[in-house]
Amino acid sequence: MSGKIVRGILALLLACIVFAGRGYAFDEGFTVVIDPGHGGKDSGAISASGLFEKHIVLDIARRMQAILREWNVNVIMTRTSDDFLSLSTRAHFINSQKPDVCVSIHANSSNIASVHGFESYIYDKRKRGTILHRIPEVNPSIFVFPMKYSTSGKHSKSFQAAYYMHTALAAATGSSDRGIRAAHFHLLRAVEVPCVLMEIGFMSNRFEAKRLEDSNYRQVMAQALAEGIMRAMNGVEADTLISRSKGSEPVGSSLLLPAAAIKGAR
Ligand SMILES: [Zn+2]
Repeated sequence: MSGKIVRGILALLLACIVFAGRGYAFDEGFTVVIDPGHGGKDSGAISASGLFEKHIVLDIARRMQAILREWNVNVIMTRTSDDFLSLSTRAHFINSQKPDVCVSIHANSSNIASVHGFESYIYDKRKRGTILHRIPEVNPSIFVFPMKYSTSGKHSKSFQAAYYMHTALAAATGSSDRGIRAAHFHLLRAVEVPCVLMEIGFMSNRFEAKRLEDSNYRQVMAQALAEGIMRAMNGVEADTLISRSKGSEPVGSSLLLPAAAIKGAR
């Protein structure tokens, strides 16, 4: 085969890899619960310009709902309007729905105005307060899935969902990665299915609050989070690669995001 043909095939393969996440479609029941944090009397974080976390996260959740429904996913929302729900009411409702995965959407706040970036949290009592994983500083164009989270238990599945949403968000927004973290949060503890709490940015940071005010940016975030969920749940390629390559860290199709998009991610 000539070098030209080989390069052509490689380019085609790369295009398949890059766009593999774009056209998900599920024929049968796959259920995601999206939990927009706070609501009603609980506004969550408030930005300097008067933006409420409860409104921002509900908007992003609704956008995710629309995208995922287009891909034939059953989407259940814990709230669709500005209602107050206690954490135990949420957890009870989520468990009653028996979804495949649950994602709780939040925006962060800090006393230090310069703090910015996004975080994903999964339940891990023993390691709470620690960072479980960060996108590698060296060669961030290749995301390497950590093998130890390749099993199908709640903890691993939560990590997988966090990992794919996290990497998709980094690539799509260029926000700084503050890591996939272990937490002992009520919701993560009480929900019996794989569950991730995403902190999508800091309301207390002027730059991030301004971005969150922009509906185009919220759409980009929703798209990235929806794609992340699908990559995790569809995680066929990832799982296959992981089981095939015992002992070595796999690098494969669903683990690779467009290099061009990642450039601005740090
Ligand atoms: Zn919150």
